[in-house]
Amino acid sequence: MTTHAGHDLLHDLTPPADEDPLVDVARQLLKEIGEDPDREGLRDTPQRFARWWREFSDYHPGTTDTLFEATTTSQLVIVSDIAVWSLCEHHLLPFSATITIAYRPTGHLLGLSKFARVAHNHAHRLQVQERLVADIATDITTITGTPDVAVIARGEHLCMTMRGIKTSALMTSTAYHGAFSTDPALRAELLSLTRS
Ligand SMILES: [Zn+2]
Repeated sequence: MTTHAGHDLLHDLTPPADEDPLVDVARQLLKEIGEDPDREGLRDTPQRFARWWREFSDYHPGTTDTLFEATTTSQLVIVSDIAVWSLCEHHLLPFSATITIAYRPTGHLLGLSKFARVAHNHAHRLQVQERLVADIATDITTITGTPDVAVIARGEHLCMTMRGIKTSALMTSTAYHGAFSTDPALRAELLSLTRS
């Protein structure tokens, strides 16, 4: 069985590079911060800027993933250390996050690559870390058909390290669905298995 969780329609909306309005946005931005967009080093920067934003916002997670039949329903499956980059919606600055996804299969086991695709898909848009884990948890719940899903993210935000209090710090966000929210023993098992 193949599953599909993309947003294909957006992809067709990307304008050709030479008429992308984001090129003008970048030129304006450069002028506003006191730069000359026509100087040597900046000549191709507006096009690169436009291309990068289109790549970021029109990301395709891919569609070829497999669901396997689970042989037991009591096991705990954990996929950890999925590294993603996203953009903080408050500052438009990047944050990197390490994602751990856990679930208890009730009939369907998800192919490993699907977890990374789901994580990257939700990271490739303006986000806050709390919504990122919530979105991933909701998707995994839908795709696997199990209510028992947990997502943990540890993120480092450039809006903290580069501006504001200018210190590096890790922020942890969690989303516990189903038994992970009601069964302290299950949550304790998850945390003991993912402790590094
Ligand atoms: Zn921020």
